[in-house]
Amino acid sequence: MSQWRRPARLLASLFLLVVWMTVGIVAQSTGNKAVGSSAAATGRPADDPEFARLVKEWTTKPEFSSPLVDHLPKIAGVPSPKDVLGHHIGEPKKLTYYADILKYYRALAAASPRVKVMSIGRSNEGRDLVVVFVGADESIKNLETYRGYLAQLADPRTISDAQAKEIVAKAKPIYHLSGGLHSGEVGPSEMLMELAYRVAVEDSPLVKKIRDNVIVSITPVADPDGRDRNVDWYYKYGINETEGRTTGAGVPYWGKYIFHDDNRDINYSQIEMRALLDWYLQWHPPIMHDLHQAQTLLYTFSGQAPHNPNLDPILYGELPMMANFEMAQMTKYGMPGVWTHGYVDMWSPGYLAFMSSNHNGMIRMYEIQGTSGANTTKLRLGPAAGSGQATGRGGRAGGPGGAPEPDAAAVTAGRSNQSQREWFRPWPATGEFDWSLRNNTNYGETGVLTALQYTAAFPNVILENFYQKSRNSVNAGRTDAVAGFIIPAGQRDTTRVAVLVNLLRMQGIEVGSAKSEVRVKEGTFPAGSYVVKRDQPYGRLAKTLLEKQVYPDAVTRTYDDASWTMGMMSQTEVREIADKAVLDVTVTPVTEVKLTGTVSGTGSLFAVAHYGSNNMITLRYRLKDLKVQTVEKEFKQGDVTFPAGSFIVSGDVARVRPAVEALGLTAVGLASAPLVPMHDLDLPRVAVYSTWGSTQDVGWIRFAFDKFELPYDLIYKDRVREGNLKGAYDVIVIPHQAGTAKRLVFDIDSRGQAIAYKKSERFKYLGMYGESDDITGGMGLEGVAEFDKFAKAGGVLVTLGAASFFPAEFGLAPKVDATRTSAQFYSPGAIIDAEILQPENPIFYGYDKKMIPVRYGGGPLLSVQTGGNPFADGPPAGPPPTPQGVLMRYPGGDDHVLSGLMRGANEIRNRAAIIDQPSGKGRIIMFAGNPCYRWQNFGEFNLLFNTVLNYNDLEAGKAGAAGTAGQAGR
Ligand SMILES: [Zn+2]
Repeated sequence: MSQWRRPARLLASLFLLVVWMTVGIVAQSTGNKAVGSSAAATGRPADDPEFARLVKEWTTKPEFSSPLVDHLPKIAGVPSPKDVLGHHIGEPKKLTYYADILKYYRALAAASPRVKVMSIGRSNEGRDLVVVFVGADESIKNLETYRGYLAQLADPRTISDAQAKEIVAKAKPIYHLSGGLHSGEVGPSEMLMELAYRVAVEDSPLVKKIRDNVIVSITPVADPDGRDRNVDWYYKYGINETEGRTTGAGVPYWGKYIFHDDNRDINYSQIEMRALLDWYLQWHPPIMHDLHQAQTLLYTFSGQAPHNPNLDPILYGELPMMANFEMAQMTKYGMPGVWTHGYVDMWSPGYLAFMSSNHNGMIRMYEIQGTSGANTTKLRLGPAAGSGQATGRGGRAGGPGGAPEPDAAAVTAGRSNQSQREWFRPWPATGEFDWSLRNNTNYGETGVLTALQYTAAFPNVILENFYQKSRNSVNAGRTDAVAGFIIPAGQRDTTRVAVLVNLLRMQGIEVGSAKSEVRVKEGTFPAGSYVVKRDQPYGRLAKTLLEKQVYPDAVTRTYDDASWTMGMMSQTEVREIADKAVLDVTVTPVTEVKLTGTVSGTGSLFAVAHYGSNNMITLRYRLKDLKVQTVEKEFKQGDVTFPAGSFIVSGDVARVRPAVEALGLTAVGLASAPLVPMHDLDLPRVAVYSTWGSTQDVGWIRFAFDKFELPYDLIYKDRVREGNLKGAYDVIVIPHQAGTAKRLVFDIDSRGQAIAYKKSERFKYLGMYGESDDITGGMGLEGVAEFDKFAKAGGVLVTLGAASFFPAEFGLAPKVDATRTSAQFYSPGAIIDAEILQPENPIFYGYDKKMIPVRYGGGPLLSVQTGGNPFADGPPAGPPPTPQGVLMRYPGGDDHVLSGLMRGANEIRNRAAIIDQPSGKGRIIMFAGNPCYRWQNFGEFNLLFNTVLNYNDLEAGKAGAAGTAGQAGR
């Protein structure tokens, strides 16, 4: 789909491609494909002398290569990467667009019976998502048979141990490799093309054994949209960078919504991640290996503590086993700087390749030393001395979960300590040297070939372990303290129950609907309750996702979130069941929960109950041309209770029924309006403000708004500086971003040279999701003044998380103080209690409890001045009087930590969680947390949605501010 001006060499290569494809097609049609081993009968095929010469030239020091990658066979009839791309992999200043990457794999597959390309879906921007299989002719011919073997091993309930043994003897492990999950980490996606070719054609004993004993599968680029944008950016800016003269900014977007968080997308919200999960559950590769580039020179993940204790102990043996093998082999080849252990832990199950460990396989991960795009750059590593950081623990200095991924920053920050010798880093890289894209290729490819060597040496061990872990998972459900979970029927909001159950189903977890009333020691649950039994292959994953996270110790830090408990995050009831009787409950298997709302009665009006469903805002927008009011007090119609916040819809009521049913809501026809105060639900003109320097957390808000069909303009500094914001918008949301108010205002440092993010004929993928002639400089004080004017003119400014420092520190909300937690405080995304102080406020429509579980997002400690500083002498003993405008607060303290980890929980005691500050004719609503965090905390989304929907009635519910009863809403 993408066309761009190519260098002449690429055009030449196109001609070659046609030739190769013709060869392939002809061979295929005669049933006699070139097999890539022309000289195989007599020995190793001839190597390409040019490859050897150029790779040597591009490798900056001899020790940065290995005997595994310093040569490449040249095979008549099978295209090497150069034959299609026009250059060998790792040439300085050459990066490949996704379409050309696909072109290469397809040419290779057309020419070799050892390669197959399979489409698995489309990216957000429509790019073909593929998995490439490479293996022996026989493996590729019988892929479906091998898939079947792995599927049998994955569900041991269908086979006996004896049968498993027979299957293991016939089966082959699939080893899955994935590059380009993080689009700025460009090297591995280049390298994998060469790897695929090498595995297909090389006849060295090592590669031949890999080809015969293992099926290699490859995700060429996990985020292809971001890949192309990065390659554009590289050719526009990065290629001209020299030492001391860098662009000063990265490309503002990778994928459509997010950057690094595609490796934190625990609920597989992004379609690229979802496509891979769907593929995984069909193919069951026992190993999933993600290739990143952020550490010096190659870090191989070994699964350090803290550990998810639900995962099989076998896994914790396998991980360092393979990592240590790689470290020893690469060290033997003379490659310095290969290490393990001190970087990423095994706590959060949300990393992409964790789909493997979560399903009884094995997650693997590399961090390979990157370059600046494809430029050769100087690395300045410290000498092997000094105390360095405590690398053995966590390894992540800095912010709580949700802060930008440290990949890129860690390269810089971690360099000195990565030059230090440790038990897990016996031969660190030190000193100064040039580092090239080819070095990155050499390290990555040598590592991967070594991992494949290990797998090819012990294929049966890998398969036996996969089977045993699956078997153990089923057994654990029968012997562990937790036998299952029940999601009771009859919950007020069934839509979030449906979301939760469907997310479990998406992960392959079996869920049943109880055929009759369930009686277990924990209680009696009605028929139709959802039952998750743990004696299933993915029973451990169910436990991991549904249980309260109990952090293992008081010292260790974790790389990402410490908690994710799905019931709490979505504020739905999930009961943990110890009673083994739950395993025998008769259930109907659930494929997918389909939302079916209920509509009863008739009338000229319809009342739609607000039970906290996030679909309420969708309904409002789907019925945007109808008159919709909301009730400010609860009322009853027949036996249905309509809480405050319920909608009263009038006009073309025939449209209400299908809309309500499709969204899983509850509606009743009314003859006349209820006699309670109401206000009109006017539709605001909404904008979402984004800096250019940190668009990812804005992306999650955009994703949630898009999913729930809430229209908005995405605006940047240029629009803000233009002024007259109130003329265009009623509500502006500034999502959590940038970390500090200063960065929110001044954003990317201006170095006196404009950096444009614009589409052009040559750079088609730039200028998407916004355009600017200069992305540097931020909104500046001019922009601050415009936001102030917006609020004073009657606008509603909503700030989330770290963005709430902004109104406090830049004087828009002068009575609000925003401070930070102490250095002792540590809470990577704990789930904690929040106390609703003004339940009648429209922001809390749909919430029926005073205390709700929320994710602590590491935003500011907010307080409203009441004269003296109530926090001057440390946290007060009891709750202080509530200052004006605090709508919700954190009770704080260890007792209110519900899941995960919060050290120093007293620091947040009675701090404001949501503040409403009047400003002129408008107001500023400040959230300390992030109510739309990574498609996870569905229970909090409504706090933001209600704010938007009731933007001009946020005084409703306050004494003396009640709306008018009956139809005369405001
Ligand atoms: Zn990465």
